[in-house]
This record gives sequence, C-alpha cells and structure tokens, in this order.
Amino acid sequence: MHSDVTIIGGGPAGLATALSLEALGLSVTVLERAPLAQLAEPAFDGREIALTHHSVSVLQRCGAWARIPPVGISPLREARVETGRHNHPLTFDTHGKGVEALGYLVSNHLIRRALYEEALSRPGITISAGTGTRRVRDGQGAVSVLYDGGEIETRLAIAADGRFSDIRRLQGIGAIVHDFHRAMLVCRMAHDSPHHHVATQWFDDGQTVALLPVNGGASSLVLTLPPDRIEALRVMDRDCFNADIRARIGNRLGGIRLVSTRHVYPLRAVYAHRFVTHRFALIGDAAVGMHPITAHGFNLGLKGQEALAEEIGVGLARDGDPGSASVLKRFETRHRLATAPLFAATNGIATLYTRDEMPFRQMRRAGLRLADSLSPFKSAVTNMLMDKRKSA
Ligand SMILES: Cc1cc2nc3c(=O)[nH]c(=O)nc-3n(C[C@H](O)[C@H](O)[C@H](O)COP(=O)(O)OP(=O)(O)OC[C@H]3O[C@@H](n4cnc5c(N)ncnc54)[C@H](O)[C@@H]3O)c2cc1C
Repeated sequence: MHSDVTIIGGGPAGLATALSLEALGLSVTVLERAPLAQLAEPAFDGREIALTHHSVSVLQRCGAWARIPPVGISPLREARVETGRHNHPLTFDTHGKGVEALGYLVSNHLIRRALYEEALSRPGITISAGTGTRRVRDGQGAVSVLYDGGEIETRLAIAADGRFSDIRRLQGIGAIVHDFHRAMLVCRMAHDSPHHHVATQWFDDGQTVALLPVNGGASSLVLTLPPDRIEALRVMDRDCFNADIRARIGNRLGGIRLVSTRHVYPLRAVYAHRFVTHRFALIGDAAVGMHPITAHGFNLGLKGQEALAEEIGVGLARDGDPGSASVLKRFETRHRLATAPLFAATNGIATLYTRDEMPFRQMRRAGLRLADSLSPFKSAVTNMLMDKRKSA
C-alpha cells in the first residue's frame, strides 16, 4: 500500500493536518487506534477548548467550523483572574478591540467530530480506524509505517498520537516532561445565576478553580488539586459532589449542580527534544503537550500543522517532495520559535499558581495587582489570547 503522507493518530491535530495536506493535492492516510464509532461520534470528554480567533479562521478555512452546531460555540467576552481572598482581579476584555469575544469555547468532542466529518468528505483522505501503529521503518526516498495487520509506504510519516506518544519514543526522540503532581477534574455544572460569558479563574490556598461559560445556563468547572483528592471527587456521589463544589466556589453562580460526566487529566507538560527525523514529523501534543492553564495546547497544534503544510507546499513546488530534510528542518525551526517561549512561560505560571508556600502566595498577589495596573501588559496579553493574526 502507498500513500504520500501517513498520519498516526486521528485526534484533532492529526485530522486537521490531514485536511491541510489533502488540500495541497496529496494522498493522506490516517491510522487511528480507537474504533470507528469513537471517531464518528466521540463522547463528551469534559474539555472545553478555548479557541483563538486565528484557530477559528483555520477551522473555517478547512471546512470544519461550519460543521460545529452554533449552540456548541460559546463566546468568551471577558476573563477574570483572582487570587485567594485578596480579590484584586486581573481582567481581560475586548474593550476597544472591535470584536465580540476574546475567543470561543467549543467542546473537544464537537471539534473532533467536525474534523472527522470533513475528513470523511475529502476524496484524498483514507481513514483507517481500529488500527494501532506499531512503528516507522526507514527506507530510501520513503519510510514504511507498520500497523496491526499491514504496512504503508509513504514519503512522510507524521505522529499525532498525543502527549505520551509511543511513536515519538520508538523513533528515538526524547522529551522534557514536567510533572506538576496535580490532576485536573473537568465537568459541566448548571447554575441559577447567569455567567454573562465571563470566565473566572482563581487561586485559593490548596486549589485552583476555573469556571468557563458555555451555553445552556451552564459552566465548565475546571478544578486542580493533588491527584488523590481529585479521584475522591470523581467518584463521589452526586449530591455530595454538588455540596463540595458549592463550598469551594461560594455564591459566584447561585445554586449549582452537576449535569455531565466527570473527567480527570493528570497535569504533565511535554516538549519533544526534536520535532523531526528522517521523513518523520511530530504534530499536536506529540510535539508540544501544554499545561491547560493558558489554553494553548490545541491552538498551538493548529499552528504547527499550518506551518508544516506551508513548508510542504514550498517543497512540493520546488521538487515535488513533501518529506525532504529541508522542508522538515524549516517546519521544526518555525514551530520551535512559536512554542518554546509559551511552553516555558506557561510552566512558570502553572508553578506559581499551584504552589502554596509563602513566597509563591505573595508573588501572585503582587503580580496580579501589578499586571492589572499595566495597561500595555494587559493589552499585549489580550492580543495574545485572541491571536487575531490571519494566515496567508
Ligand atoms: C482539561 C484540558 C483542557 C484543555 N483546554 C484547552 C484549551 O482551552 N485550548 C487549547 O488550545 N487546548 C486545550 N487543551 C489541549 C487540547 O485538548 C490538546 O492539545 C489536543 O486535544 C491534542 O490533540 P492531539 O490530536 O495532538 O492529541 P490527542 O487528542 O491525544 O489524540 C491522539 C490520538 O492518537 C491516537 N493514537 C495514540 N497512539 C496511537 C497509535 N499507536 N496508533 C494509532 N493511533 C494512536 C489516540 O487514540 C488519539 O485519538 C486542553 C487539554 C485538557 C486536558
């Protein structure tokens, strides 16, 4: 079997990459380990993805955005960051920016389903579900991707198999792994008071809580605690859970109750030492797996696949080769420049806001007050959150 490009992993980053490369006229095969039903109708997984304006424009151009039901798209009009009971909030809003929202919240499973449906409609994309990839073998002018039950010869193999990527390891690429020794519980809570599309995140002693506004009189609760305490909450009986959360968030949204399944994610950030080897590239969380606190993971995944597609386009025009060393090198340089500073800054913020020793507490109080009083800083962060840059 032959395919110009083979993508290992049919998550959101892998599918977005498939759409961009098929648009260049390449034949693309996506190998996904999960069964077809999970690709076609992914279940709610608790993640509400805050998309920047740039990410929305990428999803619009690839045809996936129109496949997301409007009721599943929630505008984020303002974001407030508070610390402890010393509530001098740092606020970000769209004032003077000429747009309705800082960004848009969309459930991860809706993004996945939209990308899958669009990929299915493209003649140049073959999706093989229930197919785990075992490894990638070097060859002359091509590589072979070995999967359960077969082998594909391809000019470029791309691993989009998530932050704990087996294929990355099997290709001999190491990674920086930053373990925060915390876990995140995410779920939807309905509430009596309106959220006005304002997201609130605050840092009490011992916990970090965020409430993200979604449609239907509900918010997404994002709670960060040590792993054993999170697990106890995940399995807690519903009434006790509601009472526990009410005690944690106080009267911010009036009466509040659980209306979804609960999901837990361990907080480990990952940064691959290299993004490419011979006719092989890493995309999405397999390249850069961010701490969710700054909501950059998938946004950076979309940027990475965009940079890769642009460089492949240049390579195709030059010599018809989508996987040459020069194409991959330029992609790696661009993606490293786009991600390394954000990865370091996000880890710094996550550490500052999850440690409770005295210098960290004082630093975050002083930091929020100072940041809120510096309008050039606030404006720069707001622009970064929105990322309104339109790509060519
Ligand atoms: C709680 C939480 C909140 C988040 N919030 C935001 C946010 O607000 N904004 C944002 O931009 N990002 C956010 N993110 C990050 C975002 O969810 C991820 O960046 C994104 O889902 C990564 O997509 P991916 O396709 O790279 O990886 P994954 O979604 O992990 O997909 C990998 C796929 O590869 C498949 N696979 C694995 N191994 C193999 C194999 N050997 N063979 C074949 N298939 C394989 C898996 O089955 C899976 O389908 C958040 C993450 C979390 C946990």
